[in-house]
Amino acid sequence: MKCLLAAINAKYIHSNLGVYSLKAYAEKHLGQDVEIEIGEYTINHSQEAILADLYRRKPDVAAFSCYIWNIDYVKQLIADLPKVLPGTRIWLGGPEVSYNGAGLLSRFPQVSLVMKGEGEETFSRLLSCFRSLGKEERGTAAKTEGQTGLTQLDEEGWDQALEHIPGIVYRRRDSRIQDTKTAPLMDLNDLPFPYQNMEGMEHRIIYYESSRGCPFSCSYCLSSLDKTVRFRRMDLVKKELAFFLERRVPQVKFVDRTFNCKKSHAMEIWRYLAEHDNGVTNFHFEISADLLDEEELSLFRKMRPGLIQLETGVQTANPRTLQEIRRKTDLNRIREMTLRIHCFQNIHQHLDLIAGLPWEDKESFLNSFDQVYAMRPDQLQLGFLKVLKGSFMEEQKEAYGLTFTERPPFEVLSTRWLSYADVLELKRIEEMVEVYYNSGQFSNTIKQMEGFFPRPARMFQELGEWHEQMGLRDMGHSRLARYENLFRFLAERFPDEGDLFRDALTVDYYLRENAGTRPSFARDQKEYREGIRSFYQEEGKARRYLNCGYEGFDSRQMAKMTHLEVLGDGRVLLFDYRNRDALTKNAAVWEIAFAAGGVQDGEFICGSGSGDHRLKSEDGSDPGNRRSADRRREGGGRISDAGESGISS
Ligand code: SF4
Repeated sequence: MKCLLAAINAKYIHSNLGVYSLKAYAEKHLGQDVEIEIGEYTINHSQEAILADLYRRKPDVAAFSCYIWNIDYVKQLIADLPKVLPGTRIWLGGPEVSYNGAGLLSRFPQVSLVMKGEGEETFSRLLSCFRSLGKEERGTAAKTEGQTGLTQLDEEGWDQALEHIPGIVYRRRDSRIQDTKTAPLMDLNDLPFPYQNMEGMEHRIIYYESSRGCPFSCSYCLSSLDKTVRFRRMDLVKKELAFFLERRVPQVKFVDRTFNCKKSHAMEIWRYLAEHDNGVTNFHFEISADLLDEEELSLFRKMRPGLIQLETGVQTANPRTLQEIRRKTDLNRIREMTLRIHCFQNIHQHLDLIAGLPWEDKESFLNSFDQVYAMRPDQLQLGFLKVLKGSFMEEQKEAYGLTFTERPPFEVLSTRWLSYADVLELKRIEEMVEVYYNSGQFSNTIKQMEGFFPRPARMFQELGEWHEQMGLRDMGHSRLARYENLFRFLAERFPDEGDLFRDALTVDYYLRENAGTRPSFARDQKEYREGIRSFYQEEGKARRYLNCGYEGFDSRQMAKMTHLEVLGDGRVLLFDYRNRDALTKNAAVWEIAFAAGGVQDGEFICGSGSGDHRLKSEDGSDPGNRRSADRRREGGGRISDAGESGISS
C-alpha cells in the first residue's frame, strides 16, 4: 500500500515540516508495511507537471498538506486527479482545511476525508486502518490503474472504523458527512525527529519545532485557538539541533509560535546554540521582544554575527487596536529591546506590522509604521490582514465592516476604518519598503533621505507616488535600474542635493558587488586613473589593505577583484569583496587617501563582523546624518566627547 504526502510550497527554498513529521510518525508506528512517499512541489510548478508526477507514482492515497498559499492550487489538482487515478483516495489536512472540513467535502466530492488539527496520530491511525482493509486486492490493482480495490465489505468496514478515529471529517458510503470528535493534543516527545537525512535539503530552509501552541489570544490568528503550549524535551531538542549543526545546514527556522514564551526553554536552546555554534548555521526565531530580559540580552551580545535572527510581530502601535485584537504588547519595551539588540550589530531583526486591523485607519497605520521604523529593524514587513476561517476576526467581520478577497489568502480589501483606496496606498508603500529598505541595498541612501522628509512614512509614500506616476510599478527592474530610478526620483525631488545622493547611491551600488556596469549617475573617475593605478601597484607590494583573501594575486588581479571609488568630497573608498560583513554581506570598505608617490594611511570603515552596513563619515557620524551633523555644528551646539549627555548649557 502506498501513500503519497503531497506538499506544494510557496518557494523552492521552503520545505514542509508537516509532511516530514507525518511520515516519520506513521513509519515509527506502522513499520515498513506502508510505503509513504513525500512529493514536494512549489506553486510555480505547472498543474500539469504535478498531475503527471502524481500519476507516475500511482499512490493508493494522495494526502495533501493545505495552507493558505496553496489551497487554490490543491483544489484544482484534486478536481483532475480522479480523472487519471480514479481509485486513489484523496485526503486533506493542514491549517487551511482544519476548520471547514464539512464544507470542503460537500463542495469536493473527490475528497474522501479531511484531517483536523494535529495530524501525526490521526494520519497514522488512518493508514493503519486502510492497510488492514482490502489488503489482497489493493496491491496489484493500484499498480495498474490506481484502483485501491476496496471491496464493498471493506468499504463498510472502513466507514465503521473511521467513526473511532478522532480528528477527521469524512464521507460515508451513503454520502453523509461525518465529523468525529476532536483529537487529543499530542505529547511532543512522542514525535520522532522528522529528518532522517538531509538529502535534497542542502539549499533549503529547514523548519523545526520545539513547542506547539501559543499562550496568547490574538484575534486574527489560528494559533490562539490552541492555548495549551507543549514543549519538546530538552535532551531531544539538543540532539536534533546537533544533527543540523553537524551537517552545517544554512538555516533552521523554528516554527514555535512565540519561541520565548517560556524563558527557561528559550534560554537553554539559545545557550546551547551559542556554545555549539558551527560558524555557519543561522537559526530564526519568532519572539515577543517585550518578554526579553537582561540575561537574554547579555547572551545575545556574545553571539556570532548571524548565528540567530529574531522576528517580532509588533502589528500595530495603536493602543485601541491592540486592545481590540487582544494583544498584550508593551511597545516601549519592544522599542527598548530592539534598539539595544540593534546596537550589538550581530542579530538580524525583523519587525512586522499588519494593515487592516480594527480601529486602525490610514493615519494610525502610518503612525505605527513610523514608530516601528524608528526601532531600526533590518526588515520591516508590512502585511495585510488575512481573515482566516475559524478565527475570532472572522466572527467579527460584520462589526468591523471587513471585506476581503473571496479566495485565499482572504486578504483585507477594506474595513470600517480603511477604504480600498487606503489599502492600495499602503500596498504602494509596502512595495517601496520591500525594494528600497528590506533589500538592504540602499541603506546609505535611505539614511540620507530620512533627513529630507518629515517622517519615514512620507518618504515611502512619495516614492510610491512617483513610481506610480512614472509607470514603474508592477514591472520587473534590474538591480541597476532600481538605482537609476531612485536617483531620478531624488534628482527631481531635491535638485540641489544631486551630488549628495549621487555619492550615497554609488556607495550602496558598489557595497554589494563589483558590478561591471557603471550607473549613469556615478561620477566620472577619469581624472583619478593615475592615482588608482598607483594605489594598486603599491598595494601589490605592500599589502596594506588587501592582505586577507588576496594571497597569490598580483596588483592587476586585485584591481579587478576590488573596486575603488573617489567621492565628491575627495574621499577614496576601497571595496573589498573577499571580506564581507557577516550580517549584511556587504563588502568591507577602507577609506584611503591618494598621495603623491603612494598612499597615505587609510581607515577601516565597515565590513566583516562590524555588522553596521552604513558607512561612517570622517567625523564618525553616519553619512546619512551628515546634514544633521553639519546643522548641529552650524547651530553652534557644543558636543563634548562624552556625547550628547555632555552638552553643556
Ligand atoms: S499572533 Fe503570535 S502571539 Fe498572537 S496568538 Fe498567534 S502565534 Fe500567538
